[in-house]
Amino acid sequence: MKKIAVLTSGGDAPGMNPAIRAIVRRGIFQGMEIFGVRLGFEGLVRGDYFSMDLGSVGDIIHRGGTMLRSARCPQFREEESQQEALRQLRAAGIEGLIVIGGDGSFQGAAQLTKRGFPTIGIPGTIDNDIRGTEYTIGFDTAVNTVVEAIDKIRDTASSHERTYVIEVMGRDAGDIALWSGLCVGAESILIPEAPYDVEDVIARIDHGNRRGKRHSIIVVAEGVCSGMEIAKSLEARAGLETRVTVLGHLQRGGSPTAYDRMIASKMGAQAVDLLLEGEKEGMIGIQSGKLVHVSFDPTNKRQGLDLSVYHLARSLSI
Ligand code: ATP
Repeated sequence: MKKIAVLTSGGDAPGMNPAIRAIVRRGIFQGMEIFGVRLGFEGLVRGDYFSMDLGSVGDIIHRGGTMLRSARCPQFREEESQQEALRQLRAAGIEGLIVIGGDGSFQGAAQLTKRGFPTIGIPGTIDNDIRGTEYTIGFDTAVNTVVEAIDKIRDTASSHERTYVIEVMGRDAGDIALWSGLCVGAESILIPEAPYDVEDVIARIDHGNRRGKRHSIIVVAEGVCSGMEIAKSLEARAGLETRVTVLGHLQRGGSPTAYDRMIASKMGAQAVDLLLEGEKEGMIGIQSGKLVHVSFDPTNKRQGLDLSVYHLARSLSI
């Protein structure tokens, strides 16, 4: 295999750039030519790609976002678009593809492999919610960003003796809320994977107040409900004065942490090597701390959030 392409798709995540860098550099090291596809599957359908040299990925290892840019491309669900993408790839002499993205992007990738085009996935999303891997590139950076933001809010919280509700990303997966909640010592962490009771949240705040705590932090994943809803019920039921912060998109940006750069570099190089070895499908993941190659099979189970961390956090915030 002499020519391969790389694209980033779905929501951007810190660490996508180091992954692109690793793919380009490893590919060239292995004697290949690497093409960068602009704007995810949209660019793939349009044949919008360019040859990348060693210098084209210089100075990106520390940058958030993706130099190839990302897009959602609903029409790629249709066979016609998939066939057009394949026609363009073959016309350009490209023999393999690496897709960096989330579950949705891997469904697109699986359509290409189904039609005989070798495609390897690299999990890149801050949510840590992809089937078949216990880690996705961007998660560590996002958690660190949230922790840094809450540490700042905490300074104000203790000066004003208030309850702060912080809403973080995570529609279906509570990983960001759980990790950041534990790391900032939140009184309560509300995640989609565990039921919550507002009376329990109030009791934990009360308990803290009685032993002289001057502030309370509640971290809620957006998939549970909005921070505002929690704040309203705390005020209505217990008369607590609360302030709400919605961290929003700042969680997706920022310079990737050393951990994300390391994992992205390893996965990028591994994806190139797998294509060279003749692998035709599947994703690189991490299982029990080790890099693995797993199928795109949609029946793969999501690794799921580690509920023991949830119970640990609860036992440490009493
Ligand atoms: P994130 O986790 O950040 O949302 P994602 O990869 O899951 O990332 P999606 O918007 O679900 O993001 O998917 C990205 C793109 O993948 C879509 O815009 C579409 O181009 C392609 N895609 C998604 N599902 C399919 C599918 N069933 N068949 C073909 N292509 C798909």
